[in-house]
Amino acid sequence: MRKLFVAGNWKMNLNYIEAVTLADDLKEQLASSDDLAKVDVAICPPFVYLAQLGQVIKGSGIGLGAQDVYFEKNGAFTGEISVAMLKDVGCSYVIIGHSERRHVIGETDELIHQKLLAVLGGGLKVIFCIGELLEERESNLTEEVLERQIRSGLAGVTAEQMSRVTVAYEPVWAIGTGKTATGDQAQEAHKFSRSIIADMFGVELAQQVRIQYGGSVKPDNAAELMARPDVDGALVGGASLKLEAFLGIVEAGASLG
Ligand code: PEP
Repeated sequence: MRKLFVAGNWKMNLNYIEAVTLADDLKEQLASSDDLAKVDVAICPPFVYLAQLGQVIKGSGIGLGAQDVYFEKNGAFTGEISVAMLKDVGCSYVIIGHSERRHVIGETDELIHQKLLAVLGGGLKVIFCIGELLEERESNLTEEVLERQIRSGLAGVTAEQMSRVTVAYEPVWAIGTGKTATGDQAQEAHKFSRSIIADMFGVELAQQVRIQYGGSVKPDNAAELMARPDVDGALVGGASLKLEAFLGIVEAGASLG
């Protein structure tokens, strides 16, 4: 049985006071419930707040994640952040391959693969995002895209490292648009993704890999999505910036757990 995992991707939002307040409130609310026994929870704030928020949530059971990383260990890479630096400030997770990095910043499958290997090689956990564009879905290319992203991203990953990988299926047309995949669409994509992971790593290991759904998840659609057999939680953007909404999604998961 896979434990559900809900992570908040704050993207480039909130000022310092807002970030500390949100993390502190989240910690307080989760401390007074037993949700964390049923659902793993993490927040992925902007880089500059990580060190402080690591202190705020220390001992709370809430995981700390970064939204990106660079694959080199150190050196002349102006503006970049290494895996060791993220470990230093208390991160356990790193989001890799988010669609905004793929399609807005222009990251390639190869760069994403290098980043993923660097994170796993450095002992941290990965939230590995995959997902098709609207035109790819409309051209019946969804499975082709997912298979390419999974095979290139996870090439060369060991079985031990796979235990530190969460996949996040995020159809690009559903991110920040208010359009959510239906439970059936999500289940179909998750089941297909798991079958590719099974082909690469074996059925037993694939059954242990958590696959989150991401794309306009809200408290009122979270349970319907997470109730599907291959949907193991959510990667939440917009709704993770509001305490009540994010808690509502965590609670929806806990009610299924
Ligand atoms: C995301 O950025 O990973 C995401 C799913 O965003 P939203 O929930 O706002 O669609």
